[in-house]
Amino acid sequence: MDARLSDILIVGAGPVGAVCALALQQQGIRAHVLEAQPEDARADSRTLALSHGARLIFERLGVWDALEGVTPISRIHISQRGALGVARLAAEDAGVPALGYVLPYATLTAVLKRALVDAGIAVEYGVAAERIESGSDMATLHAADGSTHAAPLVVVADGGRGHAAPEPKFERDYDQTAVVCEVQTELPHANQAYERFTPEGPAALLPKGDRYALVWTARQEDAERIAQIPDDAFLAALYRHFGGRQGLFLSASPRKTFPLKLAYSGSEAADRVVRIGNAAQTLHPVAGQGFNIGLRDAWELASLCGDTPAGEIGSAAMLRAYARGRRVDVLGGVGFTDFLVRVFSNDIAPLRHVRGLGLLALEVLPPLKSFVARRMIFGARG
Ligand SMILES: Cc1cc2nc3c(=O)[nH]c(=O)nc-3n(C[C@H](O)[C@H](O)[C@H](O)COP(=O)(O)OP(=O)(O)OC[C@H]3O[C@@H](n4cnc5c(N)ncnc54)[C@H](O)[C@@H]3O)c2cc1C
Repeated sequence: MDARLSDILIVGAGPVGAVCALALQQQGIRAHVLEAQPEDARADSRTLALSHGARLIFERLGVWDALEGVTPISRIHISQRGALGVARLAAEDAGVPALGYVLPYATLTAVLKRALVDAGIAVEYGVAAERIESGSDMATLHAADGSTHAAPLVVVADGGRGHAAPEPKFERDYDQTAVVCEVQTELPHANQAYERFTPEGPAALLPKGDRYALVWTARQEDAERIAQIPDDAFLAALYRHFGGRQGLFLSASPRKTFPLKLAYSGSEAADRVVRIGNAAQTLHPVAGQGFNIGLRDAWELASLCGDTPAGEIGSAAMLRAYARGRRVDVLGGVGFTDFLVRVFSNDIAPLRHVRGLGLLALEVLPPLKSFVARRMIFGARG
């Protein structure tokens, strides 16, 4: 069967693949998107925290105003359990209207899906990429339904979950699993998020509508047990774990768990093929970096394609320039996240004191506050 030819082929219509297609369209380049899920598939219930930098990208794509039910984060309260040291970051410290924005993954993917339709971008649903063969002028993609596609550039944005996922160049298993759900608390959140470090792993409360989205990390066995205990026992355990700054925990939605790890594959895949978003790097959610780095991958790749002569798109020189341009941001985010997880997830006394001093410094030194806030918002090049 003849291969169907596109200018650029994108594998995956998740948020990163969709943003890449929309940003390419703004550069005057038409992409063709393949998505493994059927068109009417329901997105899962995960919650995302977007940085202010991500908002700027969505504004430039003209989709920000369509995102309803977004909850801004005005302040973040950071503490560690059983030790001194508290730091508070506020949007004013970074000179932005909000430190971040919390919204359901399903809302974001629905709005992006509509934007793809409005922009006339072709998305083929129910077509899973199975194998990609790279060549000097074209990459050829073989899909599970038997169809074959070819393009001078194939962008893999499959979340690292596709059949073609490579062995990561660097991987770290933190033996941590996240228990996620929504919780109602006695006190209103007033747009404040909480990040609490404990020896078992970090826990976060993100303001979401009139509730909080909870991400509670624990060792895998403990997380599975925590997720299954009845509501009353769960709420009491959460109060003991988190403390009482937000008052009592009144109710919780059904709990889900997902394992956390660091997997860094990098953007370099093969000739004419590039990986972006979670397909290139999957991070622990502690610092809210992974998703936002993925959006910057998509944006920067599209900008570079726009700056590259049509015949050179997907060339080795272009892909090298892309990898070079992303290195500082991506490795900075990977290193920062890995540092936080490893330095804060233990009960070693000297480290506990150093952490306390670190949080104290963050609390009292405005330039440090501004540095950390801007780094979380705009990444390592912020
Ligand atoms: C279970 C889970 C919970 C998470 N929770 C949070 C959270 O609470 N907060 C947070 O900030 N981040 C969270 N993340 C991370 C966040 O969801 C990702 O950073 C973000 O979704 C990455 O976007 P992406 O487009 O790269 O990948 P994805 O969102 O995974 O999208 C990939 C897309 O590619 C499609 N696809 C996969 N394989 C193929 C194939 N072979 N062919 C064609 N299409 C394919 C998939 O169907 C999907 O639509 C979570 C991730 C997971 C897996």
